[in-house]
Amino acid sequence: MKHTVLAGGVGAARYLQGAITALDPKEVTAIVNVADDITLHGLRICPDLDTCTYTLARQIDPHRGWGLTNETFTAMKSLSRYGGHDWFSLGDQDLGTHLYRTQRLNEGATLTEVTAEITNAWGIKATLLPVTNDPVETKVTLRSGQEVGFQEYFVRMAHNVPISALRFSGAPHATPTPQVIKAIEDAETLVIAPSNPVASIQPILAVPGIKNAIKRRRARNVAVSPIIGGRALKGPADRMLKELGEEATVVGVARRYRDLAATLIIHNIDAEHVRDIKALEMRAIVMPTIMSEPGVSRALAQRCHQAGKNP
Ligand code: GDP
Ligand code: CA
Repeated sequence: MKHTVLAGGVGAARYLQGAITALDPKEVTAIVNVADDITLHGLRICPDLDTCTYTLARQIDPHRGWGLTNETFTAMKSLSRYGGHDWFSLGDQDLGTHLYRTQRLNEGATLTEVTAEITNAWGIKATLLPVTNDPVETKVTLRSGQEVGFQEYFVRMAHNVPISALRFSGAPHATPTPQVIKAIEDAETLVIAPSNPVASIQPILAVPGIKNAIKRRRARNVAVSPIIGGRALKGPADRMLKELGEEATVVGVARRYRDLAATLIIHNIDAEHVRDIKALEMRAIVMPTIMSEPGVSRALAQRCHQAGKNP
């Protein structure tokens, strides 16, 4: 009953937490975006992998939504004293993850190997796979014409600035890992998590070979809309979609995913759009999808799994 999930950060991590309670965690695999990754202070930082890891370990900070709970920021304060680059907050415990990852990568380990070591150390039974071991980096073109790195847009500018384009530097030359292709092909159900469609899912699909492998099994693929009532629950997904000329509604999400998945799961508040989604040749399932309420993510994962099994 293998269950594979295309994953960004927070939305995907919450979904995965439901999936490991609804299903056998050993059967759950996430293919995780790496285009948000950044090197700072010589350290390799992988925000989406770490958000998934810390959430599955039940150690994510519930208020911030990123980083570890009970975190301290002493090293950052020390860095600020010197006028160092302190716009990207790194907690003291979190720094241990980046130190370990960077050392192992420098020794020649792949990101796939290091990620397995890190998730094992946290006792996680599910599998987290970076989509590729090759460098892929989201670049954001601002309305002003300037191009910046993703974290510069997202964190430094607090995504408070209009954009006009995205590109995934390195993606055309990247190869998906064999484990990723196998996880797509072997899955009973494949789920596109409720992650940012532009910033988290698109860079996974931009790695050559991924999109076709997913399209080939469209009937057994299920997408969960990250857009609810025309808005993102958190972050700039709604604004980014609009600024890139798309509709920030479940219908816009359906247009994006219609070639990839036969089923779209939408929140009850969007029930009025079911007919428009059907017109795009997708089946729509209406149910609670806000995963801050207990039990929702588990029920959602269960429903997704069934939907993929019964196309
Ligand atoms: P990031 O990498 O941490 O920015 O997170 P993601 O790419 O995973 O996605 C952010 C998106 O997740 C936003 O569009 C949110 O609306 C969506 N999201 C977060 N939590 C939930 C949830 O509980 N339910 C649904 N349906 N979407 C969610
Ligand atoms: Ca992210």
